[in-house]
Amino acid sequence: MPTRLSPREILAHLVSFPTVSRDTNLPLIDWVEGYLGGHGIDSHRHYKEAEPDLKAALFAHVGPEEEGGVVLSGHTDVVPVDGQEWTSDPWALTERDGRLYGRGSTDMKGFDALAIWALVEAKHRGVTRPLQLALTYDEEIGCTGAADLVAAMQGVVPKAASAIIGEPTMIKAVTGHKGGVNFWIHVHGVEVHSSILHTGVSAIMWGAKLIEWANAQNAANAAATPGEIAALFDPPYTNVHVGQIHGGTAHNITAKDCAFGMSFRVIPGEDPEDWARRLMEAVTALEAEMKAVHPDAWIQVTRMFDLPPLRPTEGNSAEELVRQVTGDNGVMQVSYGTEASHFQAGGYDAVVCGPSDITIAHKPDEYIEISQLDAGQRFMDGLLERLR
Ligand SMILES: [Zn+2]
Repeated sequence: MPTRLSPREILAHLVSFPTVSRDTNLPLIDWVEGYLGGHGIDSHRHYKEAEPDLKAALFAHVGPEEEGGVVLSGHTDVVPVDGQEWTSDPWALTERDGRLYGRGSTDMKGFDALAIWALVEAKHRGVTRPLQLALTYDEEIGCTGAADLVAAMQGVVPKAASAIIGEPTMIKAVTGHKGGVNFWIHVHGVEVHSSILHTGVSAIMWGAKLIEWANAQNAANAAATPGEIAALFDPPYTNVHVGQIHGGTAHNITAKDCAFGMSFRVIPGEDPEDWARRLMEAVTALEAEMKAVHPDAWIQVTRMFDLPPLRPTEGNSAEELVRQVTGDNGVMQVSYGTEASHFQAGGYDAVVCGPSDITIAHKPDEYIEISQLDAGQRFMDGLLERLR
């Protein structure tokens, strides 16, 4: 048997792979597969359909071949370090002042390392309830890999009951988050000299009407009385944001093109599809008005990516498990999205719980406190006790 590495040693391996979302994660997956294989654990790979030579997800099962276990899930990709000032090599885990520095140490290779450690421990110590590992790709570019992985696991390993997604929460149970639905909108107008503006269609000025529609949604949502679930969030309503825009060529030409992104952050309990439908109604009405001015004008809406909301549920087995292990009984919701909602949509009880603090993520000199990694190890020990 090869040596059993500590979570910190596993983390050092994981950080050494520069798995920025745009690049390959296969060397990391190879390493995990080899390490688990050395301990007699078989892994399954799911290659990304669009980029099979670049990315794969991995899942593995330890314990009796039966349903009802616990799956620990984390993403393998990290955000880029481009343009950031780092004190030490972001791809070499480095200790300073009680902290371990490296890209992904908090978001979320720290949890990945703990999950890999726990799986190997489960194999050696023995468990009467299964423990599973699920590592995804493409989380940082819209949580787009988790749905693939959840689908790929079905029928290959016995279905777990509870999913713990280890995004950084300081090892507190997060049971709800907003969802998202994101669009890229291309408004196409008709160019004329701006002195005869009324005969052309300015893509910018008509696009602005759609953006004003978004402002009106925000104002109406903010003015409404929040429901019970919405009240748990800050802000307690769905909002819509335009974060990027470009268009136009000169001050005296009506713009032929204007394109912008529009993103909805949707409260659990509301259906993202509902917001998609409302947007399309607004687009259809506006496009008809544009076409009345000139038939060559149009609006194209491209759906970019979706994330379902994570809905707090009664009798959530994953939440109960985390509360038993941590003793945490607080109510915590977050406004950022995670892969937990894809597990919930796939029929799992899901909770978000992992070491370290989300505010450290994505920054230069990202780190994890050694004390948080240790607390994470105690969490995994407690979990293994309950699976014995
Ligand atoms: Zn993350």
